[in-house]
Amino acid sequence: MSLGEFDLIARYFDRPVRRSPLGIGDDCALLAPSPGMQLAVSTDMLVEGRHFLSTVAPDRLGHKALAVNLSDLAACGARPLAFTLALSLPRAEAPFLAGLARGLFALADRHDIELVGGDTTSGPLNLCITVFGEVPAGGALLRSGARPGDELWVSHPLHDDEPGWLGDARLALEVFRGTPGLHVPGEAFERLRLAMECPQPRVALGQALRGLATSTIDISDGLMGDLSHVLKRSGAVHGEAGRPLGARLEADWLPRSPLMRAQDDGRQLECLLAGGDDYELLFTAAPERHEAVLAAGRHSATGVRRIGHLTTGGGLEVVGHDGQRLATPWASFDHFRA
Ligand code: ADP
Ligand code: MG
Repeated sequence: MSLGEFDLIARYFDRPVRRSPLGIGDDCALLAPSPGMQLAVSTDMLVEGRHFLSTVAPDRLGHKALAVNLSDLAACGARPLAFTLALSLPRAEAPFLAGLARGLFALADRHDIELVGGDTTSGPLNLCITVFGEVPAGGALLRSGARPGDELWVSHPLHDDEPGWLGDARLALEVFRGTPGLHVPGEAFERLRLAMECPQPRVALGQALRGLATSTIDISDGLMGDLSHVLKRSGAVHGEAGRPLGARLEADWLPRSPLMRAQDDGRQLECLLAGGDDYELLFTAAPERHEAVLAAGRHSATGVRRIGHLTTGGGLEVVGHDGQRLATPWASFDHFRA
């Protein structure tokens, strides 16, 4: 039996809301941010064949669609409130929809965010989520606050077998693509695949970094590419004339999973610096706040590692253990150039 549009919404997506004054079922949902707070809003779309492979399990797809959006709230230091889901589906298949909803709501419940509305249409498989969060007015973490001398940090999982290690999602993609010379045993591959399919948005860390980090971004297109966004936006505010903001990254300080450590140096560097789909937070903070950043990591049960510092005039350079500059010939991911 095939489901109609409204049965489908009622069965899989309409859940009572607790915090929002009005959820699914009317022409608009209603949100009530707390007094003194600003709304933080972000949209991210997942397109089959572009952002995920057709082989992904539906619950993981539901998880990832929300996770990449929560990651944007994390990067702003926002507390999640509500989200909408615009869904385009080739067919209304019960097992697929049940799995999708399961993965979606499991993550939503973990971060106390409610589904308040959306749109459903038939068409190529495509999920577009918009998230709404709240931050104290003027307190959002931005890309534009980094200063020369700031320390550069990246988040990471606390344990070897947790998903989220930098570059692992890219390594998984390379295995799927059948890249020559890449051999990963079955059990290890499942762990890599989890990194690609189940990113862990660093929502608690983002909030703990408010008032502490000078700039924050989540790594979605690769560390170097995303860092260059920060340098550009921060440089426009805090750079000196003729001496643009730069960064010096210590390659040996980059956190990595045991599987990553087993790869050859060139592959490690490419996955770590230009991988993408990581959803860890990359942030800067004044050196005087070093201990406070470590404490923020502990309080949010998230690993944080210093990986370099910001400079003036030097561009973005990556150095090895001997201080020699390493070649980093990769471009940041671009949908219209890839
Ligand atoms: P409208 O005609 O106003 O566009 P729809 O008929 O598209 O409304 O949707 C009916 C209700 O169901 C609306 O409240 C809408 O927000 C909600 N809705 C539609 N699709 C979804 C979905 N995929 N997830 C959550 N809510 C949805
Ligand atoms: Mg509609």
